[in-house]
Amino acid sequence: IVNSLPKPDWIKVKVNQSTVYNEMGDLVKEHRLNTVCAEAACPNIGECWTKRHATVMILGSICTRACAFCNVATGKPSAVDPQEAKRLAAMIQKLNLRHVVITSVDRDDLKDGGAQHFANVIAEIRKTSPSITIEILTPDFLRKEGALLTIGKAQPDVFNHNVETVPRLYPSIRPGARYFQSLRILHEIKQLQPNVFTKSGMMLGLGESKEEVTQVMDDLRCAQVDFLTLGQYLRPTIEHASVQRYVTPKEFDEYRHIAKSKGFLLVSSSPMTRSSYHADADFAVLQKK
Ligand code: SF4
Ligand code: SF4
Repeated sequence: IVNSLPKPDWIKVKVNQSTVYNEMGDLVKEHRLNTVCAEAACPNIGECWTKRHATVMILGSICTRACAFCNVATGKPSAVDPQEAKRLAAMIQKLNLRHVVITSVDRDDLKDGGAQHFANVIAEIRKTSPSITIEILTPDFLRKEGALLTIGKAQPDVFNHNVETVPRLYPSIRPGARYFQSLRILHEIKQLQPNVFTKSGMMLGLGESKEEVTQVMDDLRCAQVDFLTLGQYLRPTIEHASVQRYVTPKEFDEYRHIAKSKGFLLVSSSPMTRSSYHADADFAVLQKK
């Protein structure tokens, strides 16, 4: 992780290469899968993998977009592998997970943006692990008519799509995306499948103001989004957008209170929060309520 600002002591990247961590790495390799944990150089990888929690990335490891904060490679992706769903389901069964997070690179090159592949993966996992809860973290399906219908029919437990930052910063941080498209798909999936929980998140420290963050919270609540994640942006390499400031743990606490008061059911707000960080534990708590 490269940052030009001095890193405060609350940003802790734990180096944790336990036996379970190594086993997880072997399982991922054995099943020829990709994880966002490794591809995006997530700072929580030691902790998450030790707890057998990973976010699997389907549809390859090359993305058709080039967001300024993301470490995933950009280029021409390879053909969709129809066997990926079976390999993923087999790995999940071996790990005996209660909750799984599935994400993908953006596939602007595919007619449906990869929606049918997401649906196939969900169906395959349900066959081999019937009691698991499935969270999908999807691209924005910009100009992919019908994609949400396909996703909705597949009935994930949680539909997650990150707005990532405030709309003013989209041209520099998320140039291929449109803020209102992200809000639109979150709202649309809720209309199609009211039982599916919806979730979104933002990285803070990219130059946004407090007013802009709370406005995004209001926009997400208008789109009936249920869960919110807020974490500190960390620059993966010198080529990526720089950190404008480190948001303090106290400010993250304050944002959590504000978000709760606006009606989000689950809020994770801390410097090391990532979209899928503790997603399994948080969702389990909600199910018990
Ligand atoms: Fe993987 Fe998410 Fe954990 Fe990061 S926070 S290591 S992406 S599961
Ligand atoms: Fe990374 Fe997703 Fe942007 Fe692709 S669309 S560059 S995977 S954040």
